Amino acid sequence: MINRRSLLSSAGAAIAGAAISRSAFAAAPSYDLVIKGGRVIDPSRRLDAVRDVAVANGRIAAVAADIPAGGAQMVDARGKLVVPGLVDIHTHTARTREGPGMVLKDGVTGWIDAGSQGADHIEDTIAVAKSAPQQARVLINIGRAGILPEGDTMDLNRADVEACRNAIARNRDAIAGVKARLSRDVAGQNDYEVLRRAQQVATSFNLPVMIHMGQTITPLGKLIDLLKRGDVVTHMYAPPPNSIVDVNGRIIPEVLAARRRGVWFDVGNGQTGHMRWDTIDQIVKANFWPDTFSTDWNTNAHMTGVIDLPNCMSKFLMLGMPLQDVIARATVNAAKIFPVFQGRGTLAVGAPADIAVLDLRNGDYEFLDNFNNKRTGHQRLFPTGTILAGKYTTA
Ligand SMILES: [Zn+2]
Repeated sequence: MINRRSLLSSAGAAIAGAAISRSAFAAAPSYDLVIKGGRVIDPSRRLDAVRDVAVANGRIAAVAADIPAGGAQMVDARGKLVVPGLVDIHTHTARTREGPGMVLKDGVTGWIDAGSQGADHIEDTIAVAKSAPQQARVLINIGRAGILPEGDTMDLNRADVEACRNAIARNRDAIAGVKARLSRDVAGQNDYEVLRRAQQVATSFNLPVMIHMGQTITPLGKLIDLLKRGDVVTHMYAPPPNSIVDVNGRIIPEVLAARRRGVWFDVGNGQTGHMRWDTIDQIVKANFWPDTFSTDWNTNAHMTGVIDLPNCMSKFLMLGMPLQDVIARATVNAAKIFPVFQGRGTLAVGAPADIAVLDLRNGDYEFLDNFNNKRTGHQRLFPTGTILAGKYTTA
């Protein structure tokens, strides 16, 4: 029997715990949006089941079977995947005003512009990042003029430590790290010194360095030894010279040591160099998998082998990576690397309601490396809708 006293005290408890228990006590919890009937895959909680996802006030309010939508906006996700919003840690989204809106349609709710600009024009990319609807930050190119056709740091004077430090000091809130592009056509003989300077700057602000590896003059092992915990190696599948595998198909010891000390390895699909199926096969055979996927996105991505982040993820379904692991690398793993994404990459109740609705289609799909070699896979992920801070956009 419930007497008046216990009824009152439980009501008191409900008021005291209003923030967390409001929906449990209210007769009909009200949500802003309910995503109905999708296959929810949330690697952060090892969840893979058909569930509804309810959103209120821009946050995940509930993940359960058969949530009554009431007057909430409904998204029919039957037959689709519902996953945390995708995080792309190597893009050039901030090069253009229209970039952020374009990647939002691909399911991307968080991105990093990786070194499009250096100290001289960093404010241009920061302005785009700040006006983006998503969580967005930029990496500053150690080359003060940013990406140059003749090579960012072919002239070593462009790797200007003081200019880079001053630019970061002016923009601490927007700059998430330092980018060092090291291939022979970007840095030439200067690769090692360029990375040493990038690290000098990054360390003084306690920021990570992201290196663009592959086709360098200095052996990769020597470069990688300059990396600290939390740094990122992008273009990890780059073909020789100086790939992460040796001629015998073994991952080089410096790469294994770097992973052990907490250096991240990222795909960085891109459009030239960076990926060739035969090198990828060797790295797969050596059982060395990426921590994160990224597109190296530019506004023309749809006309290249990149297409979008879900397409880059699909290449790894073809290579044999389980779906749950593929989703993890574009969500929870990516969110660990930069503090701006803290608490994201998950569908945990209370997390920001950043969600991607993807269509996993079966069929024959052609995937390109960056040397125009085609491979056929039998599944591909297509973006169909994005929820950012609780607001729904269709692809
Ligand atoms: Zn890039």
